[in-house]
Amino acid sequence: MNVIQEITKYGHEKILFVNNEKAGLKAIIAVHSTVRGPAIGGCRLLPYASEDEALFDVLRLSRGMSHKNAAAGLDFGGGKSVIIADPSQKTEAMFEAFGEAMNALNGCYITAEDVNTDCDDALIIARKTKHICGLPHISGDPSPFTAIGVYQGIKATAKVAFGSDNLEGRTIAVQGVGKVGLDLCKLLAAEGAKLYVANRKNKANLDIAAEKYGATIVSADEILSQECDIFAPCALGAIVNPTTIPNFKCKAIAGAANNVILDLASGEALKARGILYAPDFIINAGGVINAAGEAAGNYNEEEVLKKVNNIYNTVEHILTESQKTGEPEGVIAERFAEECINAARK
Ligand code: NAD
Repeated sequence: MNVIQEITKYGHEKILFVNNEKAGLKAIIAVHSTVRGPAIGGCRLLPYASEDEALFDVLRLSRGMSHKNAAAGLDFGGGKSVIIADPSQKTEAMFEAFGEAMNALNGCYITAEDVNTDCDDALIIARKTKHICGLPHISGDPSPFTAIGVYQGIKATAKVAFGSDNLEGRTIAVQGVGKVGLDLCKLLAAEGAKLYVANRKNKANLDIAAEKYGATIVSADEILSQECDIFAPCALGAIVNPTTIPNFKCKAIAGAANNVILDLASGEALKARGILYAPDFIINAGGVINAAGEAAGNYNEEEVLKKVNNIYNTVEHILTESQKTGEPEGVIAERFAEECINAARK
Protein backbone atom coordinates (compact mmCIF):
# COMPACT_ATOMS: atom_id res chain seq x y z
CA MET A 1 0.00 0.00 0.00
CA ASN A 2 1.24 3.49 -0.85
CA VAL A 3 0.82 5.06 2.58
CA ILE A 4 1.12 8.73 1.67
CA GLN A 5 -1.28 8.31 -1.24
CA GLU A 6 -3.75 6.48 0.99
CA ILE A 7 -3.67 9.00 3.84
CA THR A 8 -3.97 11.87 1.39
CA LYS A 9 -7.11 10.25 -0.05
CA TYR A 10 -8.82 10.01 3.34
CA GLY A 11 -7.34 13.15 4.90
CA HIS A 12 -5.40 11.56 7.78
CA GLU A 13 -3.14 13.91 9.70
CA LYS A 14 -0.55 11.54 11.10
CA ILE A 15 0.40 7.85 11.22
CA LEU A 16 2.83 6.40 13.75
CA PHE A 17 4.40 2.99 13.07
CA VAL A 18 5.80 1.33 16.18
CA ASN A 19 8.30 -1.53 16.30
CA ASN A 20 9.65 -2.49 19.73
CA GLU A 21 11.44 -5.83 19.32
CA LYS A 22 12.24 -6.22 23.02
CA ALA A 23 8.62 -5.78 24.06
CA GLY A 24 7.27 -7.75 21.09
CA LEU A 25 5.19 -4.78 19.97
CA LYS A 26 4.24 -4.00 16.41
CA ALA A 27 1.58 -1.32 16.23
CA ILE A 28 0.14 1.41 14.04
CA ILE A 29 -1.51 4.53 15.45
CA ALA A 30 -3.61 6.59 13.05
CA VAL A 31 -4.69 10.14 13.82
CA HIS A 32 -7.35 11.00 11.28
CA SER A 33 -8.54 14.40 12.50
CA THR A 34 -7.89 16.72 15.41
CA VAL A 35 -10.12 19.48 14.04
CA ARG A 36 -12.65 19.07 16.87
CA GLY A 37 -10.03 18.22 19.51
CA PRO A 38 -7.59 15.41 20.35
CA ALA A 39 -8.32 12.24 18.40
CA ILE A 40 -10.00 9.57 20.50
CA GLY A 41 -10.50 5.91 19.58
CA GLY A 42 -9.73 2.46 20.92
CA CYS A 43 -6.72 0.16 20.57
CA ARG A 44 -7.59 -3.08 18.74
CA LEU A 45 -5.38 -6.16 18.99
CA LEU A 46 -5.62 -8.69 16.15
CA PRO A 47 -3.35 -11.21 14.40
CA TYR A 48 -3.55 -9.36 11.08
CA ALA A 49 -2.39 -11.52 8.17
CA SER A 50 -0.31 -8.69 6.73
CA GLU A 51 0.92 -5.17 7.42
CA ASP A 52 -1.35 -3.90 4.64
CA GLU A 53 -4.39 -5.46 6.28
CA ALA A 54 -3.55 -3.79 9.61
CA LEU A 55 -2.92 -0.44 7.93
CA PHE A 56 -6.15 -0.64 5.94
CA ASP A 57 -8.10 -1.41 9.11
CA VAL A 58 -6.58 1.38 11.20
CA LEU A 59 -7.05 3.98 8.42
CA ARG A 60 -10.70 3.02 7.92
CA LEU A 61 -11.48 2.79 11.64
CA SER A 62 -9.79 6.09 12.56
CA ARG A 63 -11.73 7.96 9.88
CA GLY A 64 -14.89 6.31 11.18
CA MET A 65 -14.07 7.63 14.67
CA SER A 66 -13.83 11.21 13.34
CA HIS A 67 -17.36 10.84 11.99
CA LYS A 68 -18.70 9.08 15.08
CA ASN A 69 -17.25 11.60 17.54
CA ALA A 70 -18.30 14.63 15.47
CA ALA A 71 -21.87 13.39 14.94
CA ALA A 72 -22.14 12.71 18.69
CA GLY A 73 -21.22 16.35 19.32
CA LEU A 74 -17.98 15.48 21.13
CA ASP A 75 -15.10 17.94 21.27
CA PHE A 76 -12.76 15.21 20.08
CA GLY A 77 -11.36 14.18 16.75
CA GLY A 78 -10.94 10.67 15.41
CA GLY A 79 -8.12 8.19 15.78
CA LYS A 80 -7.53 4.49 16.26
CA SER A 81 -4.65 2.13 16.91
CA VAL A 82 -3.95 -1.50 16.10
CA ILE A 83 -1.51 -3.90 17.72
CA ILE A 84 -0.53 -6.74 15.39
CA ALA A 85 -0.53 -9.80 17.65
CA ASP A 86 -2.46 -12.88 18.60
CA PRO A 87 -4.64 -12.26 21.70
CA SER A 88 -2.99 -15.27 23.37
CA GLN A 89 0.38 -13.44 23.13
CA LYS A 90 -0.64 -10.31 25.06
CA THR A 91 2.01 -9.24 27.59
CA GLU A 92 2.42 -6.40 30.07
CA ALA A 93 5.66 -5.36 28.30
CA MET A 94 3.73 -4.99 25.05
CA PHE A 95 1.14 -2.63 26.56
CA GLU A 96 3.74 -0.64 28.49
CA ALA A 97 5.70 -0.15 25.26
CA PHE A 98 2.48 0.92 23.54
CA GLY A 99 1.87 3.54 26.25
CA GLU A 100 5.43 4.84 25.87
CA ALA A 101 5.05 5.04 22.08
CA MET A 102 1.84 7.04 22.46
CA ASN A 103 3.69 9.79 24.31
CA ALA A 104 5.48 10.67 21.06
CA LEU A 105 2.13 12.03 19.85
CA ASN A 106 1.97 14.54 22.72
CA GLY A 107 -1.69 13.88 23.48
CA CYS A 108 -3.07 14.36 19.99
CA TYR A 109 -4.30 10.73 20.28
CA ILE A 110 -6.15 9.31 23.31
CA THR A 111 -6.66 5.56 23.42
CA ALA A 112 -9.12 3.18 25.11
CA GLU A 113 -10.00 -0.52 25.04
CA ASP A 114 -11.40 -2.14 21.89
CA VAL A 115 -11.53 -5.60 20.31
CA ASN A 116 -9.27 -7.97 22.32
CA THR A 117 -8.13 -5.26 24.76
CA ASP A 118 -9.83 -4.65 28.10
CA CYS A 119 -9.81 -2.56 31.27
CA ASP A 120 -6.82 -4.52 32.66
CA ASP A 121 -4.76 -3.76 29.54
CA ALA A 122 -5.82 -0.11 29.81
CA LEU A 123 -4.45 0.00 33.35
CA ILE A 124 -1.07 -1.29 32.09
CA ILE A 125 -0.97 1.31 29.29
CA ALA A 126 -1.81 3.95 31.91
CA ARG A 127 1.47 3.18 33.74
CA LYS A 128 3.30 4.87 30.85
CA THR A 129 0.93 7.47 29.43
CA LYS A 130 -1.83 9.72 30.66
CA HIS A 131 -3.48 9.75 27.26
CA ILE A 132 -5.86 6.89 27.96
CA CYS A 133 -9.48 6.56 29.04
CA GLY A 134 -11.90 3.76 29.85
CA LEU A 135 -10.09 3.00 33.11
CA PRO A 136 -12.10 0.72 35.41
CA HIS A 137 -12.27 3.21 38.30
CA ILE A 138 -13.46 6.12 36.12
CA SER A 139 -15.66 5.53 33.05
CA GLY A 140 -15.11 1.74 32.94
CA ASP A 141 -16.77 -0.68 30.52
CA PRO A 142 -18.38 1.28 27.65
CA SER A 143 -20.84 -1.49 26.72
CA PRO A 144 -23.77 -0.49 29.00
CA PHE A 145 -23.63 3.04 27.54
CA THR A 146 -23.48 1.69 24.02
CA ALA A 147 -26.59 -0.38 24.81
CA ILE A 148 -28.47 2.68 26.12
CA GLY A 149 -27.63 4.62 22.94
CA VAL A 150 -28.75 1.74 20.74
CA TYR A 151 -31.98 1.47 22.72
CA GLN A 152 -32.64 5.20 22.16
CA GLY A 153 -31.79 4.81 18.47
CA ILE A 154 -34.22 1.89 18.17
CA LYS A 155 -36.97 4.01 19.74
CA ALA A 156 -36.29 6.84 17.26
CA THR A 157 -36.29 4.34 14.41
CA ALA A 158 -39.66 2.99 15.58
CA LYS A 159 -41.02 6.53 15.68
CA VAL A 160 -40.06 7.17 12.05
CA ALA A 161 -41.08 3.69 10.86
CA PHE A 162 -44.34 3.24 12.77
CA GLY A 163 -45.30 6.72 13.99
CA SER A 164 -44.70 5.89 17.66
CA ASP A 165 -41.57 5.21 19.70
CA ASN A 166 -43.43 2.98 22.14
CA LEU A 167 -41.81 -0.45 21.88
CA GLU A 168 -44.50 -2.35 23.77
CA GLY A 169 -45.46 -5.33 21.64
CA ARG A 170 -42.88 -4.53 18.94
CA THR A 171 -40.97 -7.56 17.69
CA ILE A 172 -37.19 -7.11 17.75
CA ALA A 173 -34.61 -9.67 16.59
CA VAL A 174 -31.25 -9.24 18.32
CA GLN A 175 -28.32 -10.86 16.51
CA GLY A 176 -25.52 -11.39 19.05
CA VAL A 177 -26.21 -11.25 22.76
CA GLY A 178 -22.74 -10.39 23.98
CA LYS A 179 -21.87 -7.44 26.22
CA VAL A 180 -24.01 -4.89 24.34
CA GLY A 181 -26.70 -7.26 23.04
CA LEU A 182 -27.63 -8.62 26.45
CA ASP A 183 -27.89 -5.17 28.05
CA LEU A 184 -29.99 -4.08 25.09
CA CYS A 185 -32.35 -7.05 25.59
CA LYS A 186 -32.86 -5.93 29.19
CA LEU A 187 -33.84 -2.39 28.15
CA LEU A 188 -36.12 -3.57 25.32
CA ALA A 189 -37.85 -6.19 27.48
CA ALA A 190 -38.47 -3.60 30.22
CA GLU A 191 -40.53 -1.67 27.68
CA GLY A 192 -42.52 -4.73 26.64
CA ALA A 193 -40.83 -5.57 23.34
CA LYS A 194 -41.07 -9.17 22.16
CA LEU A 195 -37.55 -10.46 21.53
CA TYR A 196 -35.92 -13.03 19.29
CA VAL A 197 -32.24 -13.71 20.00
CA ALA A 198 -29.37 -15.63 18.44
CA ASN A 199 -25.75 -16.04 19.42
CA ARG A 200 -22.90 -18.02 17.87
CA LYS A 201 -21.08 -19.02 21.03
CA ASN A 202 -22.27 -17.64 24.36
CA LYS A 203 -25.07 -20.08 25.29
CA ALA A 204 -25.18 -18.72 28.86
CA ASN A 205 -26.23 -15.26 27.62
CA LEU A 206 -28.92 -16.80 25.41
CA ASP A 207 -30.34 -18.59 28.45
CA ILE A 208 -30.34 -15.32 30.43
CA ALA A 209 -32.16 -13.55 27.58
CA ALA A 210 -34.76 -16.32 27.46
CA GLU A 211 -35.26 -16.68 31.21
CA LYS A 212 -35.03 -13.05 32.36
CA TYR A 213 -36.28 -11.18 29.29
CA GLY A 214 -38.70 -13.72 27.79
CA ALA A 215 -36.75 -13.90 24.50
CA THR A 216 -37.31 -16.66 21.97
CA ILE A 217 -34.03 -18.31 20.97
CA VAL A 218 -33.52 -18.91 17.24
CA SER A 219 -30.49 -20.16 15.34
CA ALA A 220 -27.76 -17.81 14.08
CA ASP A 221 -28.94 -18.50 10.51
CA GLU A 222 -32.64 -18.02 11.25
CA ILE A 223 -32.22 -14.65 12.97
CA LEU A 224 -31.32 -13.00 9.66
CA SER A 225 -34.70 -13.79 8.13
CA GLN A 226 -36.76 -13.63 11.33
CA GLU A 227 -40.06 -11.88 10.74
CA CYS A 228 -39.96 -8.83 13.02
CA ASP A 229 -40.40 -5.07 13.21
CA ILE A 230 -36.74 -4.27 13.85
CA PHE A 231 -33.59 -6.32 13.27
CA ALA A 232 -30.81 -5.31 15.72
CA PRO A 233 -27.35 -6.49 14.58
CA CYS A 234 -25.12 -6.66 17.68
CA ALA A 235 -22.49 -9.14 16.49
CA LEU A 236 -20.65 -8.59 13.24
CA GLY A 237 -20.04 -6.06 10.51
CA ALA A 238 -21.08 -6.34 6.84
CA ILE A 239 -24.28 -8.15 7.77
CA VAL A 240 -26.26 -6.12 5.22
CA ASN A 241 -24.94 -7.47 1.92
CA PRO A 242 -26.26 -8.78 -1.42
CA THR A 243 -26.87 -12.25 0.10
CA THR A 244 -28.80 -11.11 3.18
CA ILE A 245 -30.76 -8.16 1.75
CA PRO A 246 -33.41 -10.19 -0.12
CA ASN A 247 -34.04 -12.33 2.99
CA PHE A 248 -34.67 -9.66 5.64
CA LYS A 249 -38.27 -9.74 6.93
CA CYS A 250 -38.02 -6.59 9.04
CA LYS A 251 -39.16 -2.99 8.56
CA ALA A 252 -35.98 -1.47 9.99
CA ILE A 253 -32.39 -2.28 10.99
CA ALA A 254 -30.89 -0.66 14.08
CA GLY A 255 -28.16 -2.20 16.23
CA ALA A 256 -24.71 -1.88 17.82
CA ALA A 257 -22.43 -3.59 15.30
CA ASN A 258 -19.85 -1.49 13.44
CA ASN A 259 -19.78 -1.31 9.63
CA VAL A 260 -23.17 -3.04 9.32
CA ILE A 261 -23.57 -2.24 5.62
CA LEU A 262 -21.08 -3.91 3.27
CA ASP A 263 -20.87 -1.05 0.76
CA LEU A 264 -22.72 1.87 -0.80
CA ALA A 265 -24.57 -0.40 -3.24
CA SER A 266 -25.89 -2.48 -0.33
CA GLY A 267 -27.14 0.70 1.37
CA GLU A 268 -28.97 1.63 -1.80
CA ALA A 269 -30.41 -1.88 -2.19
CA LEU A 270 -31.70 -1.80 1.40
CA LYS A 271 -33.30 1.57 0.76
CA ALA A 272 -34.90 0.23 -2.43
CA ARG A 273 -36.45 -2.57 -0.36
CA GLY A 274 -38.00 0.09 1.88
CA ILE A 275 -36.12 -1.05 4.99
CA LEU A 276 -35.08 1.82 7.29
CA TYR A 277 -31.50 1.81 8.58
CA ALA A 278 -30.13 3.63 11.64
CA PRO A 279 -26.46 4.28 10.69
CA ASP A 280 -24.05 2.31 12.89
CA PHE A 281 -21.67 5.11 13.84
CA ILE A 282 -24.57 7.30 14.98
CA ILE A 283 -26.48 4.69 17.00
CA ASN A 284 -23.49 2.95 18.63
CA ALA A 285 -21.69 6.09 19.89
CA GLY A 286 -22.74 5.61 23.55
CA GLY A 287 -19.47 3.88 24.48
CA VAL A 288 -17.20 6.57 23.10
CA ILE A 289 -19.41 9.29 24.61
CA ASN A 290 -18.79 7.64 27.98
CA ALA A 291 -15.02 7.35 27.37
CA ALA A 292 -14.85 10.95 26.16
CA GLY A 293 -16.40 12.05 29.45
CA GLU A 294 -13.30 10.62 31.13
CA ALA A 295 -10.88 12.00 28.52
CA ALA A 296 -12.28 15.50 29.11
CA GLY A 297 -10.96 15.19 32.66
CA ASN A 298 -14.20 15.74 34.56
CA TYR A 299 -16.20 12.51 34.25
CA ASN A 300 -19.85 13.06 35.13
CA GLU A 301 -22.21 10.16 34.46
CA GLU A 302 -25.29 12.38 34.36
CA GLU A 303 -23.77 14.54 31.62
CA VAL A 304 -22.67 11.44 29.73
CA LEU A 305 -26.20 9.99 29.85
CA LYS A 306 -27.68 13.25 28.54
CA LYS A 307 -25.43 12.98 25.47
CA VAL A 308 -26.10 9.26 25.06
CA ASN A 309 -29.86 9.82 25.20
CA ASN A 310 -29.50 12.50 22.52
CA ILE A 311 -28.69 9.70 20.06
CA TYR A 312 -32.50 9.46 19.78
CA ASN A 313 -32.66 12.95 18.21
CA THR A 314 -29.74 12.38 15.86
CA VAL A 315 -31.14 9.07 14.56
CA GLU A 316 -34.58 10.63 14.08
CA HIS A 317 -32.99 13.55 12.17
CA ILE A 318 -30.99 11.28 9.85
CA LEU A 319 -33.90 8.94 9.11
CA THR A 320 -36.29 11.82 8.45
CA GLU A 321 -33.78 13.48 6.10
CA SER A 322 -33.32 10.21 4.25
CA GLN A 323 -37.06 9.90 3.78
CA LYS A 324 -37.18 13.47 2.42
CA THR A 325 -34.27 13.17 -0.03
CA GLY A 326 -34.45 9.47 -0.90
CA GLU A 327 -30.72 9.06 -0.24
CA PRO A 328 -29.53 6.10 1.88
CA GLU A 329 -29.31 6.88 5.59
CA GLY A 330 -25.55 6.15 5.63
CA VAL A 331 -24.93 8.86 3.03
CA ILE A 332 -26.93 11.40 5.04
CA ALA A 333 -25.10 10.41 8.24
CA GLU A 334 -21.63 10.85 6.66
CA ARG A 335 -22.63 14.26 5.34
CA PHE A 336 -23.99 15.25 8.76
CA ALA A 337 -20.71 14.22 10.40
CA GLU A 338 -18.62 16.08 7.80
CA GLU A 339 -20.74 19.21 8.42
CA CYS A 340 -20.04 18.91 12.17
CA ILE A 341 -16.29 18.69 11.45
CA ASN A 342 -16.38 21.61 9.01
CA ALA A 343 -18.32 23.74 11.48
CA ALA A 344 -15.48 23.27 13.97
CA ARG A 345 -12.89 24.03 11.28
CA LYS A 346 -14.53 27.41 10.67
P1 NAD B 1 -19.23 -9.24 22.18
O1 NAD B 1 -18.09 -9.96 21.59
O2 NAD B 1 -19.38 -9.17 23.66
O3 NAD B 1 -20.61 -9.88 21.63
C1 NAD B 1 -20.82 -10.25 20.31
C2 NAD B 1 -21.55 -11.60 20.34
O4 NAD B 1 -21.97 -11.91 19.00
C3 NAD B 1 -20.68 -12.75 20.82
O5 NAD B 1 -21.29 -13.38 21.93
C4 NAD B 1 -20.62 -13.70 19.61
O6 NAD B 1 -20.68 -15.08 19.99
C5 NAD B 1 -21.87 -13.32 18.85
N1 NAD B 1 -21.81 -13.63 17.42
C6 NAD B 1 -20.74 -13.59 16.59
N2 NAD B 1 -21.12 -13.93 15.34
C7 NAD B 1 -22.45 -14.17 15.38
C8 NAD B 1 -23.43 -14.55 14.42
N3 NAD B 1 -23.11 -14.76 13.15
N4 NAD B 1 -24.72 -14.71 14.82
C9 NAD B 1 -25.06 -14.52 16.11
N5 NAD B 1 -24.17 -14.17 17.06
C10 NAD B 1 -22.90 -14.00 16.72
O7 NAD B 1 -19.21 -7.79 21.53
P2 NAD B 1 -19.94 -6.47 22.06
O8 NAD B 1 -18.97 -5.67 22.85
O9 NAD B 1 -21.27 -6.82 22.63
O10 NAD B 1 -20.14 -5.68 20.68
C11 NAD B 1 -21.13 -6.09 19.74
C12 NAD B 1 -20.97 -5.30 18.46
O11 NAD B 1 -21.11 -3.91 18.75
C13 NAD B 1 -19.58 -5.43 17.80
O12 NAD B 1 -19.75 -5.38 16.41
C14 NAD B 1 -18.83 -4.21 18.29
O13 NAD B 1 -17.83 -3.82 17.36
C15 NAD B 1 -19.95 -3.18 18.32
N6 NAD B 1 -19.72 -2.10 19.27
C16 NAD B 1 -19.51 -2.37 20.58
C17 NAD B 1 -19.30 -1.33 21.49
C18 NAD B 1 -19.10 -1.60 22.95
O14 NAD B 1 -19.19 -0.64 23.75
N7 NAD B 1 -18.88 -2.82 23.37
C19 NAD B 1 -19.28 0.01 21.03
C20 NAD B 1 -19.52 0.27 19.68
C21 NAD B 1 -19.73 -0.80 18.80
